[in-house]
Amino acid sequence: MRVKIESIIEDYVKEYESTEGIRSEWKVPLVAFADAMDPMFNRLKEVVAPTHAMPRDFMSDGRTIITYFLPFQDFIPDSNIGGRKASEVWAIAYVETNELIARLNKHIKQRIEELGHGAELIPMALSYAPDNLKSDWSQRHVAYIAGLGKFGLNNMLITEKGCCGRVGSIITNLKIEPTKRDEDEYCLYKAGINCTKCIDNCINDALRDDGFVRERCYEMCRENGERYKYLGHSEVCGKCLVGIPCSFENPVIKSKVRL
Ligand code: SF4
Ligand code: SF4
Repeated sequence: MRVKIESIIEDYVKEYESTEGIRSEWKVPLVAFADAMDPMFNRLKEVVAPTHAMPRDFMSDGRTIITYFLPFQDFIPDSNIGGRKASEVWAIAYVETNELIARLNKHIKQRIEELGHGAELIPMALSYAPDNLKSDWSQRHVAYIAGLGKFGLNNMLITEKGCCGRVGSIITNLKIEPTKRDEDEYCLYKAGINCTKCIDNCINDALRDDGFVRERCYEMCRENGERYKYLGHSEVCGKCLVGIPCSFENPVIKSKVRL
């Protein structure tokens, strides 16, 4: 079933790319699975927000969280290197990928139901709570639990294909073997290798070596959202994701290969 789900996701993304008017492009998605009863989900109430949802809030007999990473093709992050404002290409990719995730989740649900099982959508509005700038369903933390990647110093999830892309998830009552979480770090800094490139790239002094100032980051994203409001909801920045060693790959593996 793992392979079936992976191919449902991969095929849909490929097809979506050729939809008329879509300007973004994605690499082959990464997919990972978490046990819906993994005790680590309880920790999200401490780590993210006391109001963080649990998988079974969405499906009482849910057994597996399917989570995936949609990596942007290189030209998208490359367009966002340098300068203060986010590139239009980056903002378009954000808007189009959000729409892709919403459609893809509906498609996964439909395909699972056709196979005689159940799935439920996780409301996308939960991914962000404007009052405290935190999420009641943190896609990145859920993906971490599922073994899709590890957190970088830039607070992003670094996957085997880097951090430039977006994460989505859905719950099913299918029992699928969980993906094993990697013991090793994927961020050079966290692996004890000299790197703070993401901090150096932050253009609003939000990302610092002594912590992350969420409000300063949001201020920058709002500025771009205003600039690109003709595209739809596009509060983006992403300068701390582009032109860095973990943009497109897990740089720790690469540095080990070099040794
Ligand atoms: S730029 Fe370096 S320190 Fe920052 S997240 Fe990537 S690997 Fe880690
Ligand atoms: S998104 Fe922009 S403002 Fe926020 S931490 Fe990254 S570079 Fe800084």
